[in-house]
Amino acid sequence: MAKKNIRDVELKNKKVLMRVDFNVPMKNGVITDTNRIVQALPTINYALDAGAKVILFSHLGRIKEEADLAKNDLAPVAKKLEELLKKPVKFVNATRGKELEDAINEMKPGEVVMFQNTRYEDLDGKKESKNNPELGAYWASLGDVFVNDAFGTAHRDAASNTGIAAHIKGESVSGFLLEKEIKFIGGAVDNPVHPFVAILGGAKVSDKISVIENLLNKADKVLICGAMSYTFFKALGYEVGESKCELDFVDYAKGLLDKANGKIILPVDTVVAKPDKEKVAVDFFQAISECETKVVPSDKIPSDYQGLDCGPATIEKFKEELKGAKTVVWNGPAGVFEVEKFAVGTKAICELLANLEGATTIIGGGDSAAAAISMGYEHKFSHISTGGGASLEYLEGKVLPGVACLDEK
Ligand code: ADP
Ligand code: MG
Repeated sequence: MAKKNIRDVELKNKKVLMRVDFNVPMKNGVITDTNRIVQALPTINYALDAGAKVILFSHLGRIKEEADLAKNDLAPVAKKLEELLKKPVKFVNATRGKELEDAINEMKPGEVVMFQNTRYEDLDGKKESKNNPELGAYWASLGDVFVNDAFGTAHRDAASNTGIAAHIKGESVSGFLLEKEIKFIGGAVDNPVHPFVAILGGAKVSDKISVIENLLNKADKVLICGAMSYTFFKALGYEVGESKCELDFVDYAKGLLDKANGKIILPVDTVVAKPDKEKVAVDFFQAISECETKVVPSDKIPSDYQGLDCGPATIEKFKEELKGAKTVVWNGPAGVFEVEKFAVGTKAICELLANLEGATTIIGGGDSAAAAISMGYEHKFSHISTGGGASLEYLEGKVLPGVACLDEK
């Protein structure tokens, strides 16, 4: 069941409605990271080279009240796009109406129009985010073909993705970025090459229940790390001291360990510290960056210490467990990677995966992807997902509306 891609449709002279993810980080109207715009260029350029009229749109931030409008104005993004594309981009400061319709009607093949933040429509009854059918039908009426290249919002049922797909006359297809996400994450979840190893870390068991369950069904092994480990340690009856631990989920973790039949691999050692409580109350990262650390076996965490990273013996164990793996999916950092001292485990996992031969390696998850990129491993993985929330839902085995709405090949 493959989805149609932009390569599969005729684009010449067509008005192509292209949903991109230009939800870039901004500070005082200045874009602080252009990565999402850069990532959209191949699909845009492909359509332009094929002689399409390209109509771009995206959401930016959240719009709840009037004051959110100016903060989330897409005009600076259109300017940056113009620079990166080396082509004029006609920006229309509206999400509907005569100015937008005229701009589109005047387009020639190879030209680009971009319109204002789709969530400006949220101000009056959340029309974009609640997929108002009138809005989806209106946007669909502006073009001939719909291309969805916004994976980051593919888990949302919005007027600018499913709404348009439901109403457009012509085809609804994926762009290259979305296609890549479907190929890698979808491929790993639905049809992995075995042995398939999942590495799950991050903050909470409760955030990741569906991911753990889904991957436990599909993977040959599940390696657990991050703060999540301590809930599992507690389930085994270990002292976890001051470590992050979700007491409400200890029984749940116990149940998972029972049914996993040895498939779940836990850290064998932990880096612990005893930060000053008053300092922690002011700034957790600062407080833990200042304190002494030691490595202890996982079942020997002192009662007044907390675990903040996995230890060297765990990395050795993970290395053994990963030997021969053909597919690896990783979600969730192994420790508090925001602080250098506790980023060692996360970096070691990057290194292990970068050196795995013949394996497809995938990162899904906002913080884990950011960690790997900031540590210099951007090009060492087969795929690093661009969508935090969307990739998590994909790993949970959920159907993403923004993918499901596209035409089958
Ligand atoms: P992702 O976004 O990749 O899905 P999460 O959001 O679940 O990952 O988790 C990321 C957070 O988990 C990071 O902020 C990191 O500091 C935190 N974390 C990891 N290990 C620990 C730990 N041992 N104690 C406290 N926080 C941790
Ligand atoms: Mg996160």
